[in-house]
Amino acid sequence: MDAQREWFEKDYYKVLGIDADATAKEITKAYRKLARQLHPDQNPGDDAAEDRFKDVTAAYDVLGDETKRSEYDEVRRLGPMGGGPGGGPGGFSFNVGDMQGGDIGDVLGQMFRGQRGRGGGRSSSGVGPQRGSDVTAQLNLDFADAATGLTTTLYLTSDAQCSTCSGSGAKPGTHPTVCGLCGGRGVVDDNQGMFSFSSPCRNCQGSGSVISDPCATCRGTGIERRPREVKARIPAGVSDGQTIRLAGRGTPGRHGGPTGDLLVEISVAPHDRFGRSGRNLTVNVPVTFPEAALGGDIDVPTLDGATVKLRLRPGTPSGSRHRVKGKGIITTSKREGTKSGDLIVTVEVDVPTTLTDAQRSVIEQLAETTTVDPRTST
Ligand SMILES: [Zn+2]
Ligand SMILES: [Zn+2]
Repeated sequence: MDAQREWFEKDYYKVLGIDADATAKEITKAYRKLARQLHPDQNPGDDAAEDRFKDVTAAYDVLGDETKRSEYDEVRRLGPMGGGPGGGPGGFSFNVGDMQGGDIGDVLGQMFRGQRGRGGGRSSSGVGPQRGSDVTAQLNLDFADAATGLTTTLYLTSDAQCSTCSGSGAKPGTHPTVCGLCGGRGVVDDNQGMFSFSSPCRNCQGSGSVISDPCATCRGTGIERRPREVKARIPAGVSDGQTIRLAGRGTPGRHGGPTGDLLVEISVAPHDRFGRSGRNLTVNVPVTFPEAALGGDIDVPTLDGATVKLRLRPGTPSGSRHRVKGKGIITTSKREGTKSGDLIVTVEVDVPTTLTDAQRSVIEQLAETTTVDPRTST
């Protein structure tokens, strides 16, 4: 018997003696208990027990599987609505008279296939348009390229449009012809009682055309696995571990379905001088004690190789942080427009490891007149 039809007719919840809202745990518990009681080994020669055992097993086979259970619930919900005497309270009813001969299972089957097709983007039967799969590629960037963005070429081997037939699937010199069954629509109408279902055409797998002379390279699929080059624009400010999605650069779809995406996984090498914090760049800059004590302009490196002046106040503490506006990462996106980060400079007072005699004597003079500021000596 057709599974959907069997579902429609049997109350598996009742078979297991549980409520329709039973949890997965309760279902398993009820099943185990009944299975132990009714097991043929426990009831030799008892045909009734054996039948019950089969029912219980069939019920658990469905209710014990989350996916099957929800489909079963759907069948049960839709079925009585139209199948019961006088129709149901729902918004539509099945014309049962037209369905005698076991068609209801087929009808429900089609409805579920249709639902899955919409939800998952592919049809379970392999017929009809199917979206191509996503392809993953790795890209290693150096720090500066990740900050500024670049256009690069990715080399990857993946399913791609067949180069022999340009994806048509037809042997070069021949062309796919319009499907005679669906007239190129890719779907056929199937009248079942009050309903008219459109289902993908099986003659052309929903593509609307048929290939009489398939391409030898791809055997008519229009897809071959081959090395290919993909030009990719990597935006400024990508970070290590980020994935960039390039829409429509993955595997071609089947039967007229859309192409999948290319997912580029980015690794960014660290820089020996600069760090990153979002859009801001960070850099540590050593200064001399006189520069920190007396103040003045210091040269600060930027990522593009140029330097900018940063003015230190007299008495700038070691470890203090200073902001150079607009010298961070500049990003442009449709959503946010152009935004620029800053360069965050951490000043580190450099303590000399060797001194000339003259330096030593000056510092010794300084030492005699210097005490630690009580505010900073906690
Ligand atoms: Zn081909
Ligand atoms: Zn067709």
